[in-house]
Parts: sequence; structure tokens; C-alpha cells
Amino acid sequence: MSVPQKTALVTGASRGIGAAIALNLAAKGFAIVINYRSDEAAAQDVARQVRELGAECLLLRADVANAGEVGAMFAAIDARFGQLDVLVCNAGVLRDTLLGASEAADFDAVFAVNIGGVVNCCREASRRMVSRRRGVIVNLSSVAATRPGRGQSNYAASKGAVEAFTRALAVELAPRGVRVNAVAPGVIETDMTRDIRMLAPDELNRRILLKRVGSAREVAAVVGFLCSDEASYVTAQVWNVDGGFKAE
Ligand code: NAP
Repeated sequence: MSVPQKTALVTGASRGIGAAIALNLAAKGFAIVINYRSDEAAAQDVARQVRELGAECLLLRADVANAGEVGAMFAAIDARFGQLDVLVCNAGVLRDTLLGASEAADFDAVFAVNIGGVVNCCREASRRMVSRRRGVIVNLSSVAATRPGRGQSNYAASKGAVEAFTRALAVELAPRGVRVNAVAPGVIETDMTRDIRMLAPDELNRRILLKRVGSAREVAAVVGFLCSDEASYVTAQVWNVDGGFKAE
């Protein structure tokens, strides 16, 4: 008897860490749903790489900050696959500014995506996973939640909220067979960190025990583990993948 293929949705998978997670899960045999917001060409390129690994792939554009668009995305997943086994809430934005120089809109924009997007996607996924009494959710936090840099009050607060939300949702969903964890990367080589890596390489190395930034693949490996049955006794945790990042 053939085992039905499991399905994983990765938000913000058109590049960076999200793309690496999509490829990691595709290699594990999941059918992959790639979500992106704006860069369709980049998302198509990731979809091609997923299919080269032999996995089915569905590409869905949606702004995770928009509950209506997220609802439509989940309806499209229901129609194509009929089930969702794994949700990885990876989509995130960075808008570093000193608080005194910031506008209310800076905080709002970061919160809308980084925690609003996580809540929108987890609400839809949890309804489906609870009714099947199985599922896995992994949310992307950041080292900034516990060891922030200057100008990161909006980003750090949004990621702190992701960690608190993750633990609370894990409590809610554990009795229904659904595991919920977070991964908190340090400084990873993606578009998001290009400026800081160029402007302050010495300061970064001073704070990283392993004396180098990480790769998206190194984060994806931990996310992939948490999504797998190998992690069947892990829930309500935040896993740091940061090379040993020190506080200021
Ligand atoms: P990135 O290279 O900037 O890529 C961000 C991805 O998120 C893109 O695919 C982008 O899609 C998507 N996205 C942004 N806003 C979205 C929205 N509203 N709806 C749907 N998709 C959206 O970022 P990254 O470095 O890979 O980071 C991925 C996650 O890890 C984020 O949550 C980030 O906060 C976290 N993180 C990263 C680092 C790091 O060092 N890189 C460290 C700690 C935590 P489009 O391009 O199509 O708009």
C-alpha cells in the first residue's frame, strides 16, 4: 500500500532561508507549497529546483500580513492536496531604525508581517491540523529576540512575540497531536543581512563564537529536522542556530 505524500507550506520561500527550507523538505519527500509576496521569477526558480528533486510543487502568491489572502492560499492548498502536514512560517521583514527616528508605520509594517503573518498562517493551519490530529508548525524567530542590536526594537519585539506565540500555541495544540517550535537564526548570508555584513564584519565576528556567518542551508537543516518524525518528542521549543551569538 502506498503512503500518501505529505505536504509542506513554506512562506517567503522565493529566496534566502525559505528557499533553502523548501529544498530541504523536498529532498525529504514532501510535496512543497512555495509562498511568496512579490518576486514571482525568483519563486519560479525555486519551484524548478524543487521539481528537479522529484517533489510536487505549487506556487502561491499571498501577502501573509493579509488574512484574506492567507485564507485564499489555504483554500488553494486544500483544493490541490486536500491536507497540510507541515507549516513553516518563514516570511519576515527587517526595517532597522533607532526608535526616536522611526515612524509608527515602521513598527506597524514589521509587526504586520513578522507576527501578524505568523498568526494568520497558524490560525488556518491549526484548524486543519487539529481536525486531522496531526501536524507540525515551525516559526522563524531571530537571535534579535533575545540578543538584539542597535535599531532593532521593532524587529526584536516582533520576534519576541513569535517566540511567546509559539510556546502558547504549542500548549494549545499538543493535546491534538500537533507540534509547534521556533528556530532563531543568528546572522545568515541572505539578502536581509547584506548591509550589516558589509558595514560591520568585525563587530559580527566579535560576537559569533564560530567566527563566521551562517548559511541558509544550515538553518534549513534544523528546520527540516524539526519538521520530521525524528523530532517527534520536541515541542514548545526555540532552537538557536546562530554559531554561538553573544549578547552586546
Ligand atoms: P529574505 O532573504 O529577505 O527573504 C524574505 C522572504 O520573505 C522572501 O521570499 C519574501 O518574498 C518573503 N516575504 C517578505 N514579506 C512577505 C509577506 N508579507 N508575505 C509573503 N512573503 C513575504 O529573508 P531571510 O534572510 O531569508 O529570512 C527568512 C526568515 O528568517 C525571516 O523571518 C527573518 O526574519 C528570519 N531571520 C533571518 C536572519 C538572517 O540573518 N538572514 C536571521 C534571523 C532570522 P518576496 O521576495 O517575493 O517579496
